[in-house]
Amino acid sequence: MSRIVSVSNGVAHDTTRFTTSSTTTVAAVAAELSASLRCGSSIERRRLAADIISSLMDAPRSWSAVNPGVRLDGSTIANARKAVQIVNSGGPFAYAVGSAQFRHLTLVVDSRVLIPRPETEVLVDEVLSLMKTRFGTSGNWGTAVDIGTGSGAIALSLAGEGHFDRVIAADVSLDALDVARANAVRLQSSHACEVEFRCGSLLAPVRDIRANAVVSNPPYIAVAELAALPQSVRDWEPPLALLGGHNGMDATAKIIDGAAEILVSGGILALEVDERRASLAAELMLSDGSYANVAVRLDLSGRERFVLASRI
Ligand code: GLN
Repeated sequence: MSRIVSVSNGVAHDTTRFTTSSTTTVAAVAAELSASLRCGSSIERRRLAADIISSLMDAPRSWSAVNPGVRLDGSTIANARKAVQIVNSGGPFAYAVGSAQFRHLTLVVDSRVLIPRPETEVLVDEVLSLMKTRFGTSGNWGTAVDIGTGSGAIALSLAGEGHFDRVIAADVSLDALDVARANAVRLQSSHACEVEFRCGSLLAPVRDIRANAVVSNPPYIAVAELAALPQSVRDWEPPLALLGGHNGMDATAKIIDGAAEILVSGGILALEVDERRASLAAELMLSDGSYANVAVRLDLSGRERFVLASRI
């Protein structure tokens, strides 16, 4: 039996648990999966099959390509077959394999939470860079609040990469909080501070807090825009995490209005927004009268996606 240890995300994978039948090698399972997949060209199906196996091994995408002879155990193969069924039903890749990459983290995700998006990684960058400028790099960043934490992506990144004393992750969905808590437990060793979970709508669970940062990727799709979303989003991701009311601004407007009460002077408000409504969110911050340094920032494809401000 071979002993191969690959390391991804700081987690070592000991392959001694693999069985020995030749039908269970990575190459054989990938061929089986690729024959069962119903989407795309044969090259795309092969790529997707390899990606499913790599993800289930919590390994980088290239892992399957460079380990064709490694034997997979029964539960990995069963999970890979289930993943193919989900993909064949139009489900998103992250739900199919049960995980998503966000910054340096592998997060467990399922249909109870929004799948973390690459653009939200940039929101975390913006917050970390503003916090460094305002509060320095030697710690004492106080409390950060993540409103609508979902899988915990923003909160757990801030806890791991920032110099906060505490991060509070809030969500109205108990289901989402279960996922976020499970991620916090799995990733405990990477937190530099305490992470606390609170249930309630938007800012309601953190009214008693004095925060140096309020961060959120709130639901911001307008009801009328739902039909235009990709089917894998519209039919699979939780509407509660997507829909921001009639004009998409319900949650955003409430956070802008309420965050001023909990932010300390100089504290940061950082929101992800729909690119069509970045100006509207910036105008709301300016007209509120509690904020200064209002700025709109771009995501990696040049879209206006983040609105930032500091509490006067
Ligand atoms: N970025 C998501 C999408 O485009 C929406 C996330 C949200 O509403 N916060 O589908």
